[in-house]
Amino acid sequence: MKIGIVGAAGRMGRMLIAAVQAADDIELAGGTEAPNHQDMGRDLGEMIGGEVAGVALTSDAKALFALADAIIDFTAPVATVAHAALAAQHGTALVIGTTGLDAGQQGAIDVAARKTAIVQAANYSVGVNVLLGLVEKAAQILPDVYDIEVLEMHHHHKVDAPSGTALALGHAAAAGRGVALDDVACKARDGIVGTRPRGEIGFATLRGGDVVGDHTVMYAGPGERVEITHKASSRDVFANGAVRAALWSCSQPPGRYSMKDVLGL
Ligand code: NAD
Repeated sequence: MKIGIVGAAGRMGRMLIAAVQAADDIELAGGTEAPNHQDMGRDLGEMIGGEVAGVALTSDAKALFALADAIIDFTAPVATVAHAALAAQHGTALVIGTTGLDAGQQGAIDVAARKTAIVQAANYSVGVNVLLGLVEKAAQILPDVYDIEVLEMHHHHKVDAPSGTALALGHAAAAGRGVALDDVACKARDGIVGTRPRGEIGFATLRGGDVVGDHTVMYAGPGERVEITHKASSRDVFANGAVRAALWSCSQPPGRYSMKDVLGL
């Protein structure tokens, strides 16, 4: 089984190279980066300070999609849309970790998923996918007098807010309440915003340091508060989950799948 990694020199790309190299039954098909990247041409294994991989960093995504059975993509929205089109063209399975896609970009992924298997998840950790189920269940049980707030913190390099995982948690809470998140979400507050409407799902975003990813969903009710928290301390959890998704995706018919499908939850 051959897996390729686009965005191979990024924070997640480097973790993914290590995860693929550590797996017995997977061959690293190659890795790409945006043209003019400083590591262009370097051996992927040496680039991450590991064993020689025998494949070099290139910017030829087309060749990689033609060669690999599955591609893992943790890059940026514009790049991910282009990669999804290549996946559809070559029938290559695609695992998307990129967050922050707008509605048009998401539409392009959905079109590509008619031609090939695409797994897309805002968070590839097993723990967060368990959390999504717990959040939905709690929102179902607790009446809307319990105000729901989603709090997240990430490292200072992160560009999108709220995080894809925070939004996924918001969607899970909204599903538990039987409403659409877009109808009840408040993604930021500033100034005289008035009192909190009942049923609102609020978000608070913190950025700083090297925090890998912390998420808390609060249900603040009269006389008590329930908090459900997940803290990622290593990007390994995302890389290992994405590799697991890539292995799974190769035997799936075209369609868009979630990490819940991969885990059989
Ligand atoms: P990063 O900036 O370190 O890495 C992204 C890499 O993609 C960069 O090296 C960049 O040069 C490269 N890139 C950009 N355009 C490209 C192109 N056309 N072809 C090839 N490479 C290209 O960012 P990161 O921290 O690794 O995160 C990447 C994305 O993954 C973000 O959207 C982040 O939110 C998301 N993420 C998701 C999960 C998850 O579990 N789903 C976990 C962590 C990060």
